[in-house]
Amino acid sequence: MTENFLLADEPRLFDRLEAQASDSLLALIGLAKADTRPEKIDVGVGVYRDAAGATPILRAVKAAEKVLIETQETKSYLGSEGDARFVELIKPIVFGGLGARSDRIVGVQTPGGCGALRLGAELIKAAGGNSRIFVGQPTWPNHVPLIGAAGVEFVAHPYYDKETRTVLFDEMIEALKGARAGDLVLVHGCCHNPTGADLSLNQWRELADLIAERGLLPYVDLAYQGLGNGLEDDAAGTRLVVEAAEQALVAQSCDKNFGLYRERTGALFIKASSAEQAQVAFGNLLGLARTMWSMPPDHGAAIVRTILETEELEADWRAELKEMLTRIRSLRARLAAYDERLAFIDEQNGMFSMLPLTPEAVVELRASHGIYMANSGRFNVAGLSDDNVDYFAAAVVAKLDG
Ligand code: PMP
Repeated sequence: MTENFLLADEPRLFDRLEAQASDSLLALIGLAKADTRPEKIDVGVGVYRDAAGATPILRAVKAAEKVLIETQETKSYLGSEGDARFVELIKPIVFGGLGARSDRIVGVQTPGGCGALRLGAELIKAAGGNSRIFVGQPTWPNHVPLIGAAGVEFVAHPYYDKETRTVLFDEMIEALKGARAGDLVLVHGCCHNPTGADLSLNQWRELADLIAERGLLPYVDLAYQGLGNGLEDDAAGTRLVVEAAEQALVAQSCDKNFGLYRERTGALFIKASSAEQAQVAFGNLLGLARTMWSMPPDHGAAIVRTILETEELEADWRAELKEMLTRIRSLRARLAAYDERLAFIDEQNGMFSMLPLTPEAVVELRASHGIYMANSGRFNVAGLSDDNVDYFAAAVVAKLDG
């Protein structure tokens, strides 16, 4: 009988598992929810919020969903590449004219930007070699587990100094001079998470030159296109490094700029050395996707496809994205105008900036003012409203004094 094979002191399979630390941002959302003070502010969570504090479904998304309900005739399987037309329509938004022209750039739909980042890491691993990936500090905390899970080696380099609120560009370039041909450089295409501090166009150019000169591969994470300074401006750096590089990867997400979060909508693009090699890479992506999710979820990509195929819906999406961007920019301007020590916030982009606060000061702000932000000092600008931005700024500035 089976029991006979169990040794008494041998732990059962799942008894061997070790408890994991819970996600600190999720814990923060729980704390904010439980706070009963009416003036509390949740600037921890990383989703866009409108002036009423809601994360709305975009008008064009609602309209596209209605179209899909009326017209979609099957839920039968798509292939591992997902919705190929979605990928085709997103490509020029990311790459501009370069994307439309180049048959060296191929893409597949993925479950969000996370899926794209992971699939890219699997491709790097599958290609063999000993490429390492250079990653600026700080970065989005999920980059390391997502990409590291595929077994790619990380090399950390400086990116941003929280105290002086500056991008450490010279230090970054110096570190990248230590990279070997074939190494990768992970860059945030725009709206750097967690700092909000992006490279200037001249810095992107310098980076592109270095990448070309040394035979490095940019691995661009483009999760917030349209939420920094507009769709075109936000893709400018990505286009520069992709054009300069012989080979590149771009992990794209529609979860923020289409407000699709839980629909898990994104794409991974690969630039290869030739059109033929691009097709080989594409075949590899399909094989790797099959081993992870087989095929990506359809609904979000079908929504984006429907929007981009329908002139009025696309125009309305662009208009609403601009409304979101305008709201973020105006909150940034208000914070910057409040006190010169917050002036840096208006120079930065996207939903996040990082305040030069100690973790203790962050915890104190929680207790004294009901302000909930990550311990690093990262806060979501879109979590503020016209009514509480001054309250927030006053509380933060008092801590900078203290
Ligand atoms: N990259 C960055 C920098 C992000 O902040 C996020 C989402 N928080 C992603 C990628 C992944 O986005 P998605 O929800 O599409 O997987």
